[in-house]
Amino acid sequence: MTYDFDLFVIGAGSGGVRAARFAAGYGARVAVAESRYLGGTCVNVGCVPKKLLVYGAHFAEDFEQAAGFGWSLGDARFDWPTLIANKNREIQRLNGIYRNLLESSGVTLLEGHARLLDGHSVELDGQRYSAKHILIATGGWPHIPEFPGSEHAISSNEAFYLEQLPKRVLVVGGGYIAVEFASIFHGLGARTSLLYRRELFLRGFDGAVRRHLRDELGKRGLDLQFNSDIERIDKQADGSLLATLQDGRTLAADCVFYATGRRPMLDNLGLENTAVALNDAGFIRVDEHFQTSVPSILAIGDVIGRVQLTPVALAEGMAVARRLFKPEAYRRVDYQTIPTAVFSLPNIGTVGLSEEQARAEGFEVQVYESRFRPMKLTLTECQERTLMKLVVDAETDRVLGCHMVGPEAGEIVQGLAVALKAGATKQVFDDTVGVHPTAAEEFVTMRTPITV
Ligand code: FAD
Ligand code: NDP
Repeated sequence: MTYDFDLFVIGAGSGGVRAARFAAGYGARVAVAESRYLGGTCVNVGCVPKKLLVYGAHFAEDFEQAAGFGWSLGDARFDWPTLIANKNREIQRLNGIYRNLLESSGVTLLEGHARLLDGHSVELDGQRYSAKHILIATGGWPHIPEFPGSEHAISSNEAFYLEQLPKRVLVVGGGYIAVEFASIFHGLGARTSLLYRRELFLRGFDGAVRRHLRDELGKRGLDLQFNSDIERIDKQADGSLLATLQDGRTLAADCVFYATGRRPMLDNLGLENTAVALNDAGFIRVDEHFQTSVPSILAIGDVIGRVQLTPVALAEGMAVARRLFKPEAYRRVDYQTIPTAVFSLPNIGTVGLSEEQARAEGFEVQVYESRFRPMKLTLTECQERTLMKLVVDAETDRVLGCHMVGPEAGEIVQGLAVALKAGATKQVFDDTVGVHPTAAEEFVTMRTPITV
């Protein structure tokens, strides 16, 4: 049987573009369909614009701290429309780069919504295409729970395109997006409250990290409301919003931002024309080689709901391309020791096991911690403190986890991830010469465990 393509990729986001480009590079005939924006979530409404807004928010503290170094500034003013317009221009530039990348690697780009017709065919704009393999890389979409007035809430998708910075914002959720956007809104000058339904946000992160971030955000004046959830939102005559909480309290706001997780993007995908199965959480079920319950259909990235991070989608895309078209280079994706950062202000950087996970897995754990006021702040009024933490297996001396809350934590943890991947012991950390004077050197100078 001859097919139009060897591989038909649905979705030109992080995972889909990587799989398509690599497959084409290995000589496969590849098409990729994209219905919305080249580069997917990360480039358009995710990592990239989020990081640009984080940079924007960071200036507030830079201006404040500059006085301690002898600088005097006039009244600093912030203009949201300028930041958004510049951000949009940068994204357009990146969209163009993605188009060039695909075209120059010989991938056929089809712009439109793709729908599965069966295990080997896809329909797009009334045209039918056949392919030996089909890769679903359709990503995810914000999920806002339904409750009275939930239509007044916005998600991250809309937040990136608000015309003005709201004066008062309620952020709901306790994951990456809620914590990052609360930092962005607060840093840019909005009166911001973060509402989370349980006792402490960032469930799954190391306990010391969660508590430290709570304290630092609180010191900065971000209003943290734990054990709080919204019951209803009512629009007021003046256009503002009134949120009634489950405990009866009311909070007034100009914007209610929900970051309560993301669902797989399966809308009108035609899954019903195939035997592709979903897992209990509603994401596409795949085996260890990303094969769905239909052998010719694979799936990667956020739509399989394993680890919703761009570098993971990239690794999965590359693995699929290699397994299908360059099997001698195929290696399974290793989900151990994935480093990650939360770009809150201050940042979290983390790799490996939290202390709680290590104990739950039965390790006898030694913990090293350092808390200090960063050198840059010594000439300023700012009382922010940095946390660094190592979780070590007492039996083998292997470092199981590195955690940090502080400036540039995301940058610092990348190098530590290499050490953990290589199986570094605490002795290796101790034998490593520090870079002085930096905050990062603290990771190689912690000598006394706080618990044994
Ligand atoms: P996506 O990038 O979502 O791409 C899917 C593509 O498929 C989309 O372009 C969509 O339009 C297209 N599509 C869907 N259905 C169809 C169809 N039927 N036909 C044609 N096209 C279709 N990760 C990090 O690692 N670091 C971060 O800092 C970070 N920040 C984030 C911030 C926010 C606000 C959000 C929402 C996410 C963030 N992420 C971050 C997560 C990251 O963006 C995702 O994990 C990543 O984009 C997933 O890639 P993907 O290829 O699975 O899907
Ligand atoms: P997460 O899954 O990380 O967090 C969702 C949060 O919403 C949790 O705190 C959850 O609470 C809470 N929640 C869920 N349902 C409800 C509800 N009905 N009512 C109230 N609260 C609720 O999702 P995000 O939307 O923050 O982000 C999605 C994913 O995108 C992340 O997991 C991450 O993989 C990726 N991402 C990565 C970033 C990075 O690398 N820096 C940045 C942004 C996103 P509970 O804890 O109780 O379940």
